Amino acid sequence: MDQQKKEMLEALSGAEKVLIGIGGEWKLKDDGRDVRLRCLADEAQRELKAAYEALWDLVRDKDYYVVTTVTDGAVYDTDFDSKRVVAPCGNIHWRQCSKACTKDIWEEGEVPEDTCPHCRAPLTGNTVEAENYIEEGYLPRWEAYKKWQTGTLNRKLVILELGEGFKTPTVMRWPFEKIAFFNRKSAFYRVNRQFYQMPREMGERAGGIQADSVSFIRGLAERN
Ligand SMILES: [Zn+2]
Repeated sequence: MDQQKKEMLEALSGAEKVLIGIGGEWKLKDDGRDVRLRCLADEAQRELKAAYEALWDLVRDKDYYVVTTVTDGAVYDTDFDSKRVVAPCGNIHWRQCSKACTKDIWEEGEVPEDTCPHCRAPLTGNTVEAENYIEEGYLPRWEAYKKWQTGTLNRKLVILELGEGFKTPTVMRWPFEKIAFFNRKSAFYRVNRQFYQMPREMGERAGGIQADSVSFIRGLAERN
């Protein structure tokens, strides 16, 4: 196993808190509603599921929190505790009124014919792609996440930012840099095929790793 993986595993074993950011590299090949992580159609999805399992195994006994910008809902088909997951960009499997006439959000299949019971407009995925995105779907969880974050101050925190690009940098990239900068006991790993760069002022506690984050994490499971 290479040095970067060893270092990350060491940091994780001593961590009191682990903050995980999951970005676009973790998207199911097609995040349409008919593709679910639990039905593994191809090799890429099997790889993704194995990576989620490896990731969960790394943090299962830790005080962790997961932030994801992926909207395919795949993380909810894993062993991660959904109370420790926030998806600010939404989830395609949650349904909202496409006209946003109500802030109600429904489970998939909960409403007959996928039409709004109030105004009869078609329902759409509760994601940032919706014309009128209803943010109430994630806001309570976001509040809980912010509260968890304040509990990481001055604690041994490991941040794993995995495969996140620049589409919505305000969700994790920039805030994670800020958290790591101010927490002197933190270690910050940014794993990305392309956007692995870390600002120089982040210093030695932060490092960018140029790798596909899914295969990289999957590889951590092969540590014996
Ligand atoms: Zn409606």
